[in-house]
Amino acid sequence: MNIHEYQAKALLRQYGAPVSDGRVVLKAEDAKTAAGEMDGPLWVVKAQIHAGGRGKGHFKEADAGEKGGVRLAKSVEEAAEETKKMLGRTLVTHQTGPAGKQVNRVYIEDGSGIERELYLALLVDRQTSRISFVCSTEGGMDIEEVAAHTPEKILSFSVDPATGYQPYHGRRVAYSLGLEGKQVKECVGLMALLYKAFVERDMEMLEINPLIVTDEGSLKVLDAKVGFDGNAMYRQPDILALRDETEEDPKELQ
Ligand code: ADP
Ligand code: MG
Repeated sequence: MNIHEYQAKALLRQYGAPVSDGRVVLKAEDAKTAAGEMDGPLWVVKAQIHAGGRGKGHFKEADAGEKGGVRLAKSVEEAAEETKKMLGRTLVTHQTGPAGKQVNRVYIEDGSGIERELYLALLVDRQTSRISFVCSTEGGMDIEEVAAHTPEKILSFSVDPATGYQPYHGRRVAYSLGLEGKQVKECVGLMALLYKAFVERDMEMLEINPLIVTDEGSLKVLDAKVGFDGNAMYRQPDILALRDETEEDPKELQ
């Protein structure tokens, strides 16, 4: 079972992860107020569909404009305009198939200054049942592409469940991502809370692509995709409620 980016970020925020401020919008007329609650100078309007590759996607309808499902705006008005163009329209990405997915909600997010885009994922290794960290300096790209063309740029290792997460795991992630100075400590803390969230919330997959180094030199979760172990959902009624929250999006449910 998957949840939307904005729901995944709210969940990670509860664990203390650095995520941007944002507002989910279902009706175009609410966009201005929502965007106005953030200071700018940059807003990012992000289509909430259960598929990745939104940035590089395109809309089927001409009136949605040429741009993809992640749009930068330089004013509240522009953010509202882009919201209006996207809502109700059909976004096609390499993960949706040619039919695309209807955009029934957008997330208006505070824009970040980006220095580097990195890739990070936590997965359950099916063979060993262990949790693995997967990291790459090639964030913002499709990890399948990186795996196919430059597999040496992906590092992965698993955590022994007997010891659980240890700071050296986080340091290993930090060094493989080329982090320096205070970012190493930040990374150790971030990996600890992601691991905790992963275990406590019965996640099967947590993909952060990109994890960024901001222009101020700190780490931030800029995109988040979470998949849950459906069999464990009786332990997570509040996660199931998240699914109900989006149930009015009939074309969206998988
Ligand atoms: P997707 O993976 O579905 O294309 P992302 O959330 O990864 O969607 O966004 C695509 C790209 O848009 C990111 O790699 C990043 O460059 C940019 N981006 C996304 N969110 C923000 C943000 N809040 N501020 C600045 N740039 C962003
Ligand atoms: Mg992404």
